Amino acid sequence: MVVMINACQNLEQIKGSFKLVIDPRRIREKMVMHQIESRGITDNDLLRAMRTVPRHLFVDEALQSQAYEDHPLPIGHGQTISQPYIVALMTSILEVRPGMKVLEIGTGSGYQGAVLAEMGADVYTVERIKPLYQKARRLFSEMKYHYIKTKLDDGTMGWPENAPFERILVTAGGPDVPEPLMEQLTDPGILVIPVGETRRSQVLLKVTLEQGNINKERMGSVAFVDLVGKFGW
Ligand code: SAH
Repeated sequence: MVVMINACQNLEQIKGSFKLVIDPRRIREKMVMHQIESRGITDNDLLRAMRTVPRHLFVDEALQSQAYEDHPLPIGHGQTISQPYIVALMTSILEVRPGMKVLEIGTGSGYQGAVLAEMGADVYTVERIKPLYQKARRLFSEMKYHYIKTKLDDGTMGWPENAPFERILVTAGGPDVPEPLMEQLTDPGILVIPVGETRRSQVLLKVTLEQGNINKERMGSVAFVDLVGKFGW
């Protein structure tokens, strides 16, 4: 019995010292190298942002050890924080440049919004689930992302008071491109959204508006949580 207690104490000590030696910046370096760069993403501002944003702080403490792994994670209320590569893919398709006004629909954990802010974008983000909205706001404030604007609402309606936006990113899957979002996009402008005929899987659409012409490009298959709302499911 005594031996067991000692063993447990030792384990606690070992765990404690691990906490000190694992450097999140090094884990992020590895994540970017092995999951993002290796799959062909080259946008330097984006890679730098993903090396910088502390992704582990956007998930529950119990899941922090998995925060840099190659898969999505639950964030409560049936929602997920996207896999790092999917965040990178969507953001690179969005062609974000510093100073651009970007609208994100689906704040979720806040991670994607923080990546956009770290790239120098002027970020507006809308979430429909109150506890997620509140938690993300708190995180943005703690991490000094004071300039990220947040709203609790149905994001399929966009954010008319602050429109237009040069870029719009929808991080939940809907049946089609919500009309209000197209109306709130600048010309030229880019909108990225997962769209699917069923709720189970979607194709990632890059919608480009240029000189009044709308061009839709399919960028591959993805699986997102539902976009719920007037112009969603
Ligand atoms: N970008 C998020 C991913 C969140 S998952 C991140 O980095 O963590 C998608 C989010 O979209 C969920 O939080 C869900 O509640 C939200 N969502 C779904 N439909 C929405 C709508 N109509 N308006 C705003 N948010 C919506």
